[in-house]
Amino acid sequence: MTTIDVPRATSRPKALNAIESALEQFDRAADHLHLSDESRAILRVPKREWTVNFPVTMDDGRVEVLTGYRVQHNMARGPAKGGIRFHPATDIEEVRALAMWMTWKCALVNVPFGGAKGGVTVDPRALSPRELQAVTRRFATELQGIIGPEIDIPAPDVGTNAQTMAWIMDTLSMHAGYTVPGVVTGKPVGLGGSEGRADATGMGVMFTAERALAEAGIDINGATVAVQGFGNVGEAAARLIHERGGRLVAITDIGGGVANPDGLNPAQLKAFLKETGSIAGAPGTQPIDNETLLALDVDLLVLAALEGQITSANAHQVRARVIAEGANGPVTPPADPILADLGVVTVPDILCNSGGVIVSYFEWVQNLQSFAWSADEVADRLQRVIFTAYDEVAALRESKGIDARLAAHAIAVSRVAEAQQIRGRYP
Ligand code: NAD
Repeated sequence: MTTIDVPRATSRPKALNAIESALEQFDRAADHLHLSDESRAILRVPKREWTVNFPVTMDDGRVEVLTGYRVQHNMARGPAKGGIRFHPATDIEEVRALAMWMTWKCALVNVPFGGAKGGVTVDPRALSPRELQAVTRRFATELQGIIGPEIDIPAPDVGTNAQTMAWIMDTLSMHAGYTVPGVVTGKPVGLGGSEGRADATGMGVMFTAERALAEAGIDINGATVAVQGFGNVGEAAARLIHERGGRLVAITDIGGGVANPDGLNPAQLKAFLKETGSIAGAPGTQPIDNETLLALDVDLLVLAALEGQITSANAHQVRARVIAEGANGPVTPPADPILADLGVVTVPDILCNSGGVIVSYFEWVQNLQSFAWSADEVADRLQRVIFTAYDEVAALRESKGIDARLAAHAIAVSRVAEAQQIRGRYP
């Protein structure tokens, strides 16, 4: 094994790319569907958006004023749904793009939700546990009246997790004077969270990647796999693919990356991450950077970090057979045709990472019914829902001779436009 001495991965592309990508994908679907000018005008912009500025007292006594956002893109098919992101580069344009993608994702997998997203411009890794809780509770307070089980239901995203959701649920419940479990999903199981939610996005990535590999004539058992990102999505996807017999040859996170052609052990990496804050430098591994990882000759490349990772600048270097978009928007529209020319099969984000919102929907349903399903029941139902969406995308892709991303967006946009149209115009 050769040592690859490379700089650590810390940078990210400008958020502007995300909204440009989202709009380009929408326009392409709208053109394909011959969508009316009226529907285009409605669906191209968010229904509502808020920017909130709020003070938080830090551990050293300083007061910092932070900025947060919530964007509800569309609610024609039901309450809005979408994660909350804590990241230093989060801004309104990024949140707008992510909210729009949530609308399409919910419609594609046919759950009765619209799309939303939220974020706070903050680096959660630089906060103490007390500061993190204070930021979360104050942001939740700013969202009072904007979120709720019948309005808009947040969930975890980059930089947030089940604990964050528990604090939001508690804050909103304190204000209501009674417990409101359905205000967020992705809660800890002991607090009304669903069995299987923590792994749901990664499980959906594994299910859809397995299908795409099979279509390419590759068995996941024995397939070589590289994963970018080792958080909520990347860790679960890596672990579940490993359990299916996939050989993890490289993984990166924000602190760097690890490689081993004989295979990495995700459980050991998780333990090392917990101890040190990054997988970089884990025993028995060689360092690797993002650029190298994205160009590895592997059967499956899982993108589970951030948007805009494969662009027209690096797409021609990709040698993976299948790309699974665990992240939202990791491949920009100009990169898509380059990948297609190389014969790379892409499982588009709104399908690939929809496991999270599917099980979030199950959690919301369980909360409304005050009834809990078993982990097996959740996994079975998840598989059924995501395979139905996969089959619908594959059928449209084949019948129209279009790529999977356009097929997925066409199905989703047509469902939302139809709901919007049937509801009619008020007043
Ligand atoms: P997370 O914060 O739990 O994990 C993000 C991971 O990416 C971390 O391991 C981080 O170290 C890594 N990372 C950040 N910058 C990186 C870089 N430059 N190079 C390599 N790695 C880098 O976030 P998450 O919830 O796993 O979300 C990841 C992606 O999946 C996002 O695009 C998110 O919108 C999407 N997503 C998340 C969910 C969910 O259920 N959490 C659902 C659907 C989609």
